[in-house]
Amino acid sequence: MQINNLVKECAAKLNIDLCRITDNGELKQERKILEKRSKDKYWPQPFANQDIAELTNPAFHFPNLKSIIVAAVSYNKNGTNPFLSNYVTIEDYHVYLENKLEKLAARLQKKLNKSFNYKIFVDEAPFLEKALARKAGIGFIGKNTLLINPELGSNLFLGEIFTDLEITKDQPLADDCGDCRRCIDNCQVDALKSEYLLAAEECTAYLTQKKGILSEAEIKKIGHHIWGCDDCKDVCPYNKKADKLTASELMIFDKGLQYFLNLERKELPEELANTAITWRGSRILIRNAMLAAANLKELKYFNLIKEKLNDNSPVIRYYAALSLLEIDFKEAKGVIEKHIAQENNKEYKNKIKNILAAKEENHGY
Ligand code: SF4
Ligand code: SF4
Repeated sequence: MQINNLVKECAAKLNIDLCRITDNGELKQERKILEKRSKDKYWPQPFANQDIAELTNPAFHFPNLKSIIVAAVSYNKNGTNPFLSNYVTIEDYHVYLENKLEKLAARLQKKLNKSFNYKIFVDEAPFLEKALARKAGIGFIGKNTLLINPELGSNLFLGEIFTDLEITKDQPLADDCGDCRRCIDNCQVDALKSEYLLAAEECTAYLTQKKGILSEAEIKKIGHHIWGCDDCKDVCPYNKKADKLTASELMIFDKGLQYFLNLERKELPEELANTAITWRGSRILIRNAMLAAANLKELKYFNLIKEKLNDNSPVIRYYAALSLLEIDFKEAKGVIEKHIAQENNKEYKNKIKNILAAKEENHGY
């Protein structure tokens, strides 16, 4: 049996949904795009300050690289969570997929009766993982800039084995969005500027992970999202017809607004630590939950958010004040005035004073 087929057979036995091979060549198509973007304002944010040559040349990341085995596991599941992107509503996949790829490499060595050098990557090296998957034929890139497999859609966890083993490569799939534009038409914040062009800094998914003080426009763009945004993914016809959760060994984590508003930063529940949602810290989750409640004008959470004015982080106190003023200005005004008198962080005291003044002006005070 050809090594290419053997790899796929072993991968299927390990419950890896898709497995394709590509060579060590440069990602020329993506290099051109990044070179163009580096000169305009739509540089893809997750790769900020990174070297284009490193991003687009997989050979940089493994000595004597010959082939790359790209593996994908689907995490489609029934229903969506309005507050969380699908990929964080299940257990963190990194260790899960690394284990599968370790087993795959071991099985191949055994079946081929020879050892080879390899290195496993799961969402960790500074190369373009999605582009490698495209080149290997796992899927095509849709107009929403996501990787799409015609049968499984775009809820795919990706991992790679870089190896010095020579394996026949697979061919990329043809682009297949046709005349569809649903993703672009359904992006509530107009972050998809045109086909295949994402303004990453305007995208809700990015903003939910952005630290620091957000502008008023950015807060509005967060909308009801606590982590990530799947709007342009959920409307895609390929995801609507995709088979459901194949990564069935992974635990489901499906929580709502109240859960996040009740979080105690110093004592995070154990199930949260097992998800990919905590990598930016807990403060940002509580901030986003308060902003989501504010954007939804959720009066029932007013008192819960009011308690956050006692948090020992001035950032949390600031966003609590802002959210309360947004949910119910009249009720919040007195509460915030009292809080300002006690606020001991000078910088944030001024920031809270400023938002109160701005809100008063909006309400004609
Ligand atoms: S993730 Fe959300 S905000 Fe970002 S492009 Fe898609 S629909 Fe727009
Ligand atoms: S929604 Fe339509 S245009 Fe957008 S990625 Fe899916 S198929 Fe392509």
